[in-house]
Order: sequence, then C-alpha cells, then structure tokens
Amino acid sequence: MDIGDVMEQQQPNRGTSATISQMDILQTLIDISRIITTSHNLEETLENTVDLIAERMTVDVCSIYLYDDQQDNLVLMATHGLDKQAVRKVQMRASEGLIGYVIEKRAPVNEVDVMKHPRFKYFPSINEERLASFLGVPLIEHRKTLGVLAIQNQESRQFTQEETKLLLTIASQISGLISKALLVDLLQHATDGEQAPARPADSFQLSGVPIAPGLAHSKIVLYTRARLDEPDYRAERPPDEERASLRRALDESVSEILDLIQELTDKVSETDAAIFHAHLLFLEDRGFLNKVDAHIEAGASAAWAVSQVVRDYLKAFQSIDDPYLKERGADLEDVGFRVLHHLGAEREAGPAGDREGILVAELLTPSDTARLDPTKIKGIITTIGGHVSHAAILARSMRIPAVSGIEHLRTMFVEGEDVLVDGETGNVFVNPGDAVINVYQRYEESHAQFLSHLEDLRDVPCTTKDGQRITLRANVGLTQDLGDIGRYGAEGVGLFRTEVYYLMRNTRPTEDDLAGQYAKVMEAAAGQPVIFRTLDLGGDKFPSYLHFPKEENPFLGCRSIRYQLRRQTLLRDQLKAILRVAHMGQVKLLFPMISHLDELHHVKRIYNSCREELLERGGELPRLDIGMMFEVPSAVIMRDLFAGEVEFLSIGSNDLTQYVLAVDRNNPHVSHLYDPLDPAVLIMIQQLIACAAKFGKPIELCGEMASDPEGCPVLVGMGLRELSMNAPLIPLVKDRLSRYTLTEMERLADIAQHSTTAENVRRNIHLFLHD
Ligand code: PEP
Ligand code: MG
Repeated sequence: MDIGDVMEQQQPNRGTSATISQMDILQTLIDISRIITTSHNLEETLENTVDLIAERMTVDVCSIYLYDDQQDNLVLMATHGLDKQAVRKVQMRASEGLIGYVIEKRAPVNEVDVMKHPRFKYFPSINEERLASFLGVPLIEHRKTLGVLAIQNQESRQFTQEETKLLLTIASQISGLISKALLVDLLQHATDGEQAPARPADSFQLSGVPIAPGLAHSKIVLYTRARLDEPDYRAERPPDEERASLRRALDESVSEILDLIQELTDKVSETDAAIFHAHLLFLEDRGFLNKVDAHIEAGASAAWAVSQVVRDYLKAFQSIDDPYLKERGADLEDVGFRVLHHLGAEREAGPAGDREGILVAELLTPSDTARLDPTKIKGIITTIGGHVSHAAILARSMRIPAVSGIEHLRTMFVEGEDVLVDGETGNVFVNPGDAVINVYQRYEESHAQFLSHLEDLRDVPCTTKDGQRITLRANVGLTQDLGDIGRYGAEGVGLFRTEVYYLMRNTRPTEDDLAGQYAKVMEAAAGQPVIFRTLDLGGDKFPSYLHFPKEENPFLGCRSIRYQLRRQTLLRDQLKAILRVAHMGQVKLLFPMISHLDELHHVKRIYNSCREELLERGGELPRLDIGMMFEVPSAVIMRDLFAGEVEFLSIGSNDLTQYVLAVDRNNPHVSHLYDPLDPAVLIMIQQLIACAAKFGKPIELCGEMASDPEGCPVLVGMGLRELSMNAPLIPLVKDRLSRYTLTEMERLADIAQHSTTAENVRRNIHLFLHD
C-alpha cells in the first residue's frame, strides 16, 4: 500500500480552530506521561500518543515519523487519521516532502496550504489536496533528530503560536520516551532469537563473514548438533563408582584424541593436529577436574558434573573480550561432548554422515570439522565461529570454503536445495539463478587463466621490464607454509617467524624440539637462504605457558627482544637450535625490535656464548650473518650506528608504520590512519636504503607492503632489490614488477615521496600505474 491508498481510505474528522488553555496543556502533558508509564511497547505508546494529541488539539490527522539517520530514511510509525495499515510501510527520504523539510530545518514547519509549498511532493494517487494545513515539529533528544511529530487539517488555516508551542512541548516530552522505547525495541529484536525473519524468496542472497577462501556450489546438507543437554543430576551409584566411570571416560577420551591427532597429522599437518593438544590439556586440568569431583562428592552424577562445569567455563569464555580466547570456548564444548559420550550420551555419526554438499550448521566444533571429508563436503556455512576459531583454521587447511555469521539457518535453508558459497566475500546465494552462476563461472574462468599465467611465472626469475633482477623470498611461520616455498617459487625464506611455533604449542619447546623444527625449514628451503628471526612474542602474541607481565600497553612494553633479554634461556635455546641446523644451508640470524644499541650488543654477546657452548660440545660451526630489523623509529634515526654493527638490514614495515604513525596496527578504530605508504614511512625507508648503500650492506623489506600491488613498485623504485612476503603472493608481485622499467618505478617512487599524505600517495600511484 502506498501513501495514496492510505489517504484515500481515511475519513479524517474535520477539525476546528482551537484556543488552548494552560489547563488543557497541563492536562495533555499529564495524560501523555500516563501513556508513557502504562504502554507496553513502542507501537502502543506511539499509537496512544497520536490519538491523544489529535483529540486534544482537535485536528484531523496526527502522525509520528521516525528518522533513521544511518539510512537517511523516514518511516511512518503511528497515525491518527491515516490508514493504520500504512504504519511501518510509508517511507521517504529527508530530502522529500514537508516531513523531510522538518528534519532538514530541525525547526517547526507551519503551512496554511501545503500544496503551495515548494517542498510539497504531489502524487496523483495520494489525493493530498484534501488536507490543507500542516504543522510539523522535530523530535530531538540530546541533539539527535529522532523524527517528526505532525498534525494536519482539511481546513486551510494557520496553526496558532499556542498550538505550535504545545506541539513543541509535547514533542520534547515524547522524544525521551521515543528514544527509550526505540532502545527497548532494538534490544527486544536483538534477543528475539525465535522471531526469525521470513525466508525472502526461493532465490536470495545472504551476507556473512568469509572465514575460509574459495568458491563452492552444491546441495545443502543440514546439520543440527545436539546441545550439551543437562543429564540427570542424581547419581544412581555411590560417588566412588561415579568417579571410576569418569576416569574410564577420561581415559577413553584421551586415547580418542590421540588417534585424532595422528589422523590429522597424516591428513592435513602436524600444526593443525596440534589444536587437539589443547583438548588433552583440558582433560588434565586440575582446576577443571576438582570442580567436577566436588559435584560428584555432593551427590551428582559424573555426567551432570561434567556438563555443569563445562557450562560454567563456557559462560566465563563468552564474557572474554579477546576474540581468540572467546573462540576457545568451542574447544571446551568439544571436549565436553567427547567425555559425555563416553559417559553414555548419544553421539551422531559425524556432522555430515555420508552426505555430500555444503554443510550448514549453527556451530562446528574443531572435532566436527576434523571429521569432515573434503571430497564430500564442498563448503561450510555456520552462524557461530570467527576467523580465528579452530574450526575456521582447519577449514582453511582442508581447503573447504567457509562463511560464518549466517543466522536463522532453519528458515533460510532447506536440505537438498542448491547453494553457492563465496568464501572470499562471505556471500551465500540460495538457489542462485543462472545469472549468478554465470557470473561466478566467468570469474572462475578468468581467475583460472590468471592463475595459470602466474603458475607459468613460478620458475621464472623476478625481473623488471628492463631486466633488473629482484629477489623475492617467503615469510614463513606455520609448518604448512613450508610447502609454499617451492610451490610459489620463493628464493628462500626472508623471514622465519619463530614465535608461531611457540604459539601453536601448549608447552615450551626444548632446544631439541626447536632444532627438529628448524631442520624441517632448512629442508624445505632446499639450499636457498633462510633468515631466522628470534622470538617476537608479546604485543598481541602470548603463548599460554609463558608468563608475561600484565601491561597497559603491550606493544610499547615487554615485547620481542625486550622479553627475550629478560628470559635469556628462551633466547639461548633458540640460538643454539638455529646454530645446530646452520650446516644444512645458508642460515642468517635476525633480531627483532631493536631500539637501543645496548640491546644489539647484548644479544650478540649471548649469541657468541651460545656458539662457544656448542663448539665445546664438539664439531664445526659456521659463522652466521647477523641482521637486525629496523622497525622502531629510534633505530632508523640512529641507523648509521647500527648499520656498522650488522651484516644485513631488514625493514619491518608493519611495525615501523605503527610506531612512526602512533597507530596500533590491530585497532580497527584507527585503521584508516595506518598505511605503510604514508610519506613519513617512505622517507624513513629511503633513509635506510641509502644507509645500507653507504655501508655496503644488503637490505631487505619483509612487511606486508612488499606484496602490496601499489607498494612493491615504489619499493623497487626506491632501490630495494630483496623483498620477502607471504609465498602465495610472490607470483602476483612478479607479474606486477615485470610490467614496469626501473626508470618508471624510480619516477613513481619520487612521486610517492613527494606526495603529502598516504591518500595522495595511493592516488598518485594509481594514476601513474594506469596511465
Ligand atoms: C614487520 O613488523 O614488518 C614484520 C615483518 O614483523 P611482524 O609483522 O612479525 O611484526
Ligand atoms: Mg615486526
């Protein structure tokens, strides 16, 4: 229904001019207050208010429109005199009509004859000529425009000053009420899980959060996992027997998890399997077991005790702000299910059973995901589970495209229907029409062509258009990244982030563990250079088993080399492990976040002492090239001092950007200020390149800007010849750099450094590259 139908159907009462006494005003305000306190919801409150105003002011029409400033949209929310069916249906922009004019002016609009007003918008079907006079006042609270309160009459007359004053008084009275009612309305809708929206149509699109890349098109496979239901509280047996059955269940769970770890190690990787080490830890956690035991002692069954303690822990996890820790709740629930199963609870035959298609589930635990067969399950759609959930990590490793954050699964999805999942954008198309499928097919074809072009570049050395050789190496952290070194044609490892191995574990690795891990890296590098960076923990990287001081500002605190110098055995273990694999190829050593010369001297002394210790153990040891990361402004300013003391320089543009611009690299509120192409950062990089040249030392850059399509040509133009990046991006950078001559990139670098802001740099680069 549009506003025309609304107006035709209404039979407004002919109003009369009114003189309003102070008593009338007072009584009206008292009555409105009563409405506010006795109405049950937003609709009812607004309805009662417009009826009362129309009656007291003897007007034909009284309406309330609410304004959504995000959408710039006005919606009719309550009316006396117009057809009530138009409520929530009649909408307009603030630039439209007299109602919009009130919003624009934020002041009363009083018109004798609306049709003569330039803002009047005439629709033949509206038949609005029947209503002549109009008085609208804005609803404002705390300077926020909430909407418009309007009265209209068929009679053409000027509303009096008294009437305007009364309407303004009422408006100010009800603005507070409306803002509160809106809030309640919002909260109610937010918590009304049951009020699922209707399914839009047979073919529709939903938007979620992309958590594992790739495209999948197949049939829907619905999965509803049983929740942790409450088992019977009362134990049928004495506590000791309950304890014995708990013990058995725990043992069976442990051996099942060990099998799963083995299976995953073979199927995906050791690093992915390590996720389940945390599950073992839960089962051994004294705090957890003591709580379960206390319930059993009090007479509870073992199953009730386990599910109760898991639920208590889950509540605590949900209240944590940190998204990574929050996601660990899913691991705990997973363990709980496993133990309960061994205490007699039912378990499903895997989330998908034998079915094939795209799995739709509210939540997948890590075990659910680990049990998926990627040859059958082509994609995943879930409601819960962010990018850092273990289920997401596993989905990525298993190369199953996944989208999370999709709600109302039961309403939106029907088993066996067609669905297309885009794990790059988070889009989900239910019963996609031919048009959508064609677009995706075309995209896939051109993407495949581009990929095969990139594949052709794999074994071709990286050169500029005029033949200048550029070395591209890989940044590596996870074990599974090692295969990428050869796969994407990296010339060795320009940055091995040693802390990732610590983060994936639940116990501190020994020197032998580290040597074993580093040997794998050397094998994967196949004779090409490997730059091992010592631990860069702290900031936002804290393994649970290492103790960090609680700090207000961890990025400016005990991070990286500062932490290592406090915990020197950690550093020594690492240095010895690195030295032990040095004979396997070309090993270099890199120290992160050096900000004072003393730190460099100190770590070098420790390195020398580790070397001597190993020499005493016997055998030959090569001398390693030592480099430092330039990622703190003080190091850049004092660059000449440092450059004289190292064998090579490495620019950490990620941190350099955050420390130069004072912008937390992980803080979404200031992310618009974070750009490594900011001229301030570029000038520092240029200074470092010049410094390396002066000292005749090699220099590389290993931050994300090395693979930024707009960043890499600028860096080469500035004089860098070695870049390190995530290996899958190497072919793209090769392709990009092969399109321009060195002279062109030098010109580009010059333009970039002479631009005033990061935005201008990007705009100028864009213009240059597309010229
Ligand atoms: C950097 O800061 O640019 C860098 C490569 O180190 P990380 O991102 O690991 O801090
Ligand atoms: Mg860094």
